[in-house]
Amino acid sequence: MARKIGLYGILSYILYGLFFYWYLFYFADSSLPFEYEGSSADPATFLNGRELTLSEEYSKIRNLLFFLSTPFEWLLYIFVLLTGLSGAFKKWAGQSSKFKMVQVAIYTFWLSLFAYAVTFPLSYISHSLSKSYNISTQSFPSWMKDELIDFWINFGTMLIIVAVVYWLMSKSQKRWWLYAWLLSVPFTLFVMFLQPVVIDPLYNDFYPLKDKQLEAKILELASQANIPAEHVFEVNMAEKTNSLNAYVTGIGANSRIVLWDTTLNRLTDDQILFIMAHEMAHYVEKHLYIGIAGYLLLSLIGLYLVARLMNIVVAKWGEVLRIPRVNDIRSFPLFLLLLSVLMFAASPFSNLVSRYQESRADKYAIEMTDNVEAGVKTFQELSRAGLSQVNPPLLVKLFRYGHPTMLERISMLEEYELEKRRESQE
Ligand SMILES: [Zn+2]
Repeated sequence: MARKIGLYGILSYILYGLFFYWYLFYFADSSLPFEYEGSSADPATFLNGRELTLSEEYSKIRNLLFFLSTPFEWLLYIFVLLTGLSGAFKKWAGQSSKFKMVQVAIYTFWLSLFAYAVTFPLSYISHSLSKSYNISTQSFPSWMKDELIDFWINFGTMLIIVAVVYWLMSKSQKRWWLYAWLLSVPFTLFVMFLQPVVIDPLYNDFYPLKDKQLEAKILELASQANIPAEHVFEVNMAEKTNSLNAYVTGIGANSRIVLWDTTLNRLTDDQILFIMAHEMAHYVEKHLYIGIAGYLLLSLIGLYLVARLMNIVVAKWGEVLRIPRVNDIRSFPLFLLLLSVLMFAASPFSNLVSRYQESRADKYAIEMTDNVEAGVKTFQELSRAGLSQVNPPLLVKLFRYGHPTMLERISMLEEYELEKRRESQE
């Protein structure tokens, strides 16, 4: 039975992978609708021939890697259960009832180490791909250092989750998911609060803007939007990547706008101001808080479903998956598997919400700066720097795009321009 499930699992994964290979490389049409040809959204007008080919190639491979990696994780958890590895990790953790926490920590360590080792080749391929297309500029030691930080942060988070969830399960078989969710609310807020000052600085250096002239211009814009000055930061990313970015992070006193130094180095002041205006929209419209609320709502539904599904799966396949009871720590890979499947299934929905917020931020930015040329150039430069597709295939957009596509973003600016001209003629 275990062998049969394993075989079906691998077969479905291969078929799934072949489907996406066919979809991304042969079926999906990412060429531009003809009415956009020659417009400023047409990559042929702002990329050279080599950049055009590279961006098509690179995006296709990146997209394939994306679709392969999440279900690969699922396969991994199924493997850990079917082969009894989860039981072995538990055995290695010892049976001592005195030091429950130590036992939980050792189990979690083996499980995360195994998961890390198995997924390492995919992460490495993804890093070298990004390097060979000259997106990433990060040396192997520096990349490995980031990977290790990731590993320990993941381990720490997982440890907290295992300890709390299995303790709650032992207290209440029926309501553990609800109590777990209630505890996750302050925990999430606490992590969000600490993120910009404790977690992010483990990876990179953050400091106030270096270019004081530019800072003055940004502060003037910020005062129009009523954003206090001390909330704009620069981060040294140039030693890691060639791509451009800016984002809003943190909550309460730690909330801030962060600009990658690559963005500051590669764009003109007008373009940077356009990006800043976009980020200010997120800040002013409190998109981060809406995002947290949405996340908490989804996790309530998610935890409820995980609890229901765990009961069903363990009752039906407990023997073959070698899980005697739901509240046995050996069921943790099943917990992670179900959570990951649900999150993947929910991602088109959360991306949709995010795309809506992003398009609002774009509108806010163009109304605030009223500089269409700077906006268009910014989007073109973003596409070039990240070798991203202007018009990605539908499934890629649904599952991967938290931002509108560049085609949509640039056309929105052009429409704004047209609208303005029409108004001035009346
Ligand atoms: Zn944004």
